[in-house]
Amino acid sequence: MKANLIGGRWLDGTQALDNVNPSDIGDIIDTYALADTAQVACAMEAAAAAFGEWSLSTPQQRFDVLDGIGAEILARKAELGDLLAREEGKTLPEAIGEVARAGQIFKFFAGEALRTGGETLPSVRPDIRVEVTREPIGVVGIITPWNFPIAIPAWKIAPALAYGNCVVFKPAEAVPGSAWALTEIIARSALPAGAFNLVMGQGAEVGPAMLNDANLSGLTFTGSVATGRRIAAAALTRDAGMPKLQLEMGGKNAFVVLNDADIDNAVHCAIQSAFYSTGQRCTAASRLIVADGIHDKFVRALVEKMAALNVGDARDPATHIGPVVDERQLEQDLRYVALGKEEGATLVSGGELLRTSTQGKRGHYFRPALFTETHNAMRINQEEIFGPVATVQRVKGYEEALAIVNDSSLGLVAGICTTSLRHATHFKRHAQTGMVMVNVPTAGVDYHVPFGGRKGSSYGPREQGRYAVDFYTTVKTSYIGA
Ligand code: ADP
Repeated sequence: MKANLIGGRWLDGTQALDNVNPSDIGDIIDTYALADTAQVACAMEAAAAAFGEWSLSTPQQRFDVLDGIGAEILARKAELGDLLAREEGKTLPEAIGEVARAGQIFKFFAGEALRTGGETLPSVRPDIRVEVTREPIGVVGIITPWNFPIAIPAWKIAPALAYGNCVVFKPAEAVPGSAWALTEIIARSALPAGAFNLVMGQGAEVGPAMLNDANLSGLTFTGSVATGRRIAAAALTRDAGMPKLQLEMGGKNAFVVLNDADIDNAVHCAIQSAFYSTGQRCTAASRLIVADGIHDKFVRALVEKMAALNVGDARDPATHIGPVVDERQLEQDLRYVALGKEEGATLVSGGELLRTSTQGKRGHYFRPALFTETHNAMRINQEEIFGPVATVQRVKGYEEALAIVNDSSLGLVAGICTTSLRHATHFKRHAQTGMVMVNVPTAGVDYHVPFGGRKGSSYGPREQGRYAVDFYTTVKTSYIGA
């Protein structure tokens, strides 16, 4: 059994969970301890106890710790990528890319630790100076989803530690392997014992235990809208006062194709955004909004490309689309395919359950699905499916397309494919989303710039890049008299 890390010690749990390979459900990767509420309380206590030392560490100490972690992740990207592909189901190139990204994020925040500064201003009153400085917030709870088992933990853990906070980290139940491997690397760094804790466990048990703990200063979460709302509601009524919150939730992202688009690029962007990583990305484009003049040609080309996608074992080099992560998600994908048909949409490609891969392995295989003749009020266009299911909506032109893009309760990212500078510029300004993509896929973001959305997609300060400092620090204003 792989144990949790609490207060610098590896502790088993009374219960454990098997980590199942979605490409081959007979393959159990390992068994992982589940922390109970008492262990979560110990982890929170240990983090609070370590805060005194780590919050006063020098920028050089923080740089060395984070840079060392990043270097080891990068050096082991093939091995860790293989584990990630095996437990989550994204293809090997995607998984290795994700691991490399995690290493780069640690290295980026190593540098940020050196760059934390403040401001000095003259006061409006004579003989007084004002200083604005940043301090770590304290103990940060980190709750992550299963779709990016190492990159999302990295983009929360690295800034938390870089700015001097201590961490209690709860990964998603479906992907404990990458989280444990990352923890094992962090545990060998020069961090003080207790500054970083791993509490693998059930969300409904560990989440409330973290939130109700008086040691918690901030909670950063990525996951579903429903769970995000539950966390916000619990935070509001906490006896110890409200913790700082950062919630990254769903996306129902649109990708517009105008008549003047480069069709090859439009099809490439649609395939990449809608279906790669098995559609299991919050930045996936699930609504393709296509102008009338290019619609039929675009759909024909897309369907042709979809037919050539190999759905198979995540670790087979011939695979383009790996399996769905688990049975629950697979059932959700199938439910939405059935719903799309009931709502009157036309299924033009895919949507079938494949119990075995082309390699004959038993897994959660599902052929990417495309619906046409849809309209935006349909539930398949309003609710996040989180699988490789995309819809096409036919529009007369740009204005109608933009209105549909913005007709959503979510607002993470929006994309457009056009050669018109006028439309691209207008879209960039008027899409009601946190991120906009022009002639590039909606999924695939850089790590040195902010990530996040508007409306129901996000709450709290942005993640990533130097903007991450806003969540992981609190500002102090000091007045110094002569
Ligand atoms: P999904 O449906 O994609 O699994 P969730 O939002 O349920 O998305 O899961 C994201 C993360 O939130 C996981 O680590 C999960 O264990 C955790 N989680 C689930 N329920 C709760 C809860 N009540 N409080 C805090 N975290 C939770």
